[in-house]
Amino acid sequence: MADERDEIRARIDIVELVGREIHLTQQGKTWKGLCPFHQDKNPSFTVSRQTGRYKCWSCGESGDIFNWVMKRQNVEFADALRTLAKEAGVTLASRGTPVPPSVRQAQEGAMDETLTFFREHLAKSTMAREYCERRGLDEETLKTWEIGYAPEVSGALAVHLKKKGFTLAECKKLFLVEEDSQGGYFDKFRGRLMFPIRDEKGALVAFGGRLLGDGVPKYINSSDTDLYRKSKVLYGMSRARHNFGKDRRAVLVEGYLDVIACHRAGVGSALASLGTSLSEDHAKLLKRWVEEVVILYDSDSAGQKAADRAVSILSAEGLRVRVALMPSGEDPDTLLRNAGPAAVQQAVETGLSPVDYKMQALELKRPQMAAEQFWNTAVQLLADAPNEMELDRHLLRLAGQYPGITDVSRAQQALRREVNKIRTRSQDKKVEQAPTVRAFQPKQLQGELSSAELVVFRAFLSPEYRRSGWMFARSRDLFESALAIRISDAITQAFPGAAPEGEPAVWLHQFQQEEMRQIISDLLLDVRADHLTETYIADTVELLKQKREKRQLRQIRKGNLDTAKRQEYLLKLREHKPDALKKQQSDDSLLD
Ligand SMILES: [Zn+2]
Repeated sequence: MADERDEIRARIDIVELVGREIHLTQQGKTWKGLCPFHQDKNPSFTVSRQTGRYKCWSCGESGDIFNWVMKRQNVEFADALRTLAKEAGVTLASRGTPVPPSVRQAQEGAMDETLTFFREHLAKSTMAREYCERRGLDEETLKTWEIGYAPEVSGALAVHLKKKGFTLAECKKLFLVEEDSQGGYFDKFRGRLMFPIRDEKGALVAFGGRLLGDGVPKYINSSDTDLYRKSKVLYGMSRARHNFGKDRRAVLVEGYLDVIACHRAGVGSALASLGTSLSEDHAKLLKRWVEEVVILYDSDSAGQKAADRAVSILSAEGLRVRVALMPSGEDPDTLLRNAGPAAVQQAVETGLSPVDYKMQALELKRPQMAAEQFWNTAVQLLADAPNEMELDRHLLRLAGQYPGITDVSRAQQALRREVNKIRTRSQDKKVEQAPTVRAFQPKQLQGELSSAELVVFRAFLSPEYRRSGWMFARSRDLFESALAIRISDAITQAFPGAAPEGEPAVWLHQFQQEEMRQIISDLLLDVRADHLTETYIADTVELLKQKREKRQLRQIRKGNLDTAKRQEYLLKLREHKPDALKKQQSDDSLLD
């Protein structure tokens, strides 16, 4: 088991892995970037190829490639192992893995074959091509988005897949075919324009189909399969991820045609959740890629409700959100066709902050509301204003209408007091609910070790001086600080017979405790390791030995040693430091 992990660790470059999600810049031996685990303003997140680990010096989040995948993709260790094994090309020994590689390969083959089938049928179907023309889907768009057509003929795909050697029972699990009561198979998608759904890495994981004509259901999407979790895949992500730009912004729309229309209109960062409302996992996925999301939904009541939900889910994940509602009766697709690309771009740019957007919606409902209800809701909304400027703007606007107070500035103050009341209340709640943040002081570690002790461990950690470093590091009694003794013990335990070889990334996990792995990688980040020489190490060890003798002498003087220890120390001292003992002998008889 450890072998597979070692193999994966050796093949996957943590800097590359983390670098896919976070912009990293090299600083000496480590790479730095903004921490994805907390609201980081100054880069406090470091990644080390040498140790194969990452660490945030601010919030304390740390780990190796497996922890990274577990945390970022929100999966269990077994899933992280599978993901990374696949990427590293390492075959995992079967131990209850749900999908063996051969099955996975067959599944991917069936998906690819199905896509080819749909693509070929679009080319053959005049009706489908005419539909595309009417929707303004030109040849280039069809090709770019790999749009296909599922023929009306029931069983056409089933027959095709069978002929190609795929097991239909397996294809059923992929939401491609369905079994009838006679044990035969028919196609899941019939008479539909087909949209392949790719995950962020570009792997084909599902299909969505839209009826050409009227009828229900208008859309059918694959349900969850071995390859696809709908709550974790956003349509258009594999393309949009290249277009988030330096302002790191994504545009969230409602359906396939909206995504495609936006991309055609020059809004290449558009994506959509499919046949399902936006989930927390979608928000987590977005958080890995962007800082801001513009929600571009229909302005009908269903669209507004969905937008409200999306705002709370995305904000909860720490994303900046703006809401841009389409002009009434339009969606990005119709807008592109009716008013051109600039109109779509314009719609994205008019996004409002959530507070502005909610206030606007509230104002629209105001005529149907009792005054008290309106003001209560308004104050509640304003309490969420992200900054004072935005709050003041609304207070100023509303003050003139505040019932019972004619003086505007007094009305403004009264409103602000109401807002503050709510803020204080929710602040108290937050404090109560706040999770305990692990406090971590990077300096602490260095402070706990003497500089001489540090040198020995650095020698152990540098490839050139590893052997002598290892020898000295295992001499427990050289060390005085509690931490150094713990590190010494850990090294002795992890490497009893010989010094480890190669980069720490390869052997770091041999330390049994995660805490020790972290301590060791923290030590590695110390650049002063570069100034080591053989002489310097030897001198330092000599110094530690002198200190040890002083310590032993002190303990002998105190007389709190048992006979055996006392004997041992005395023998050592007699051998190395006869002078120190001579002085000692004069005032009491230490030697037996
Ligand atoms: Zn952090």
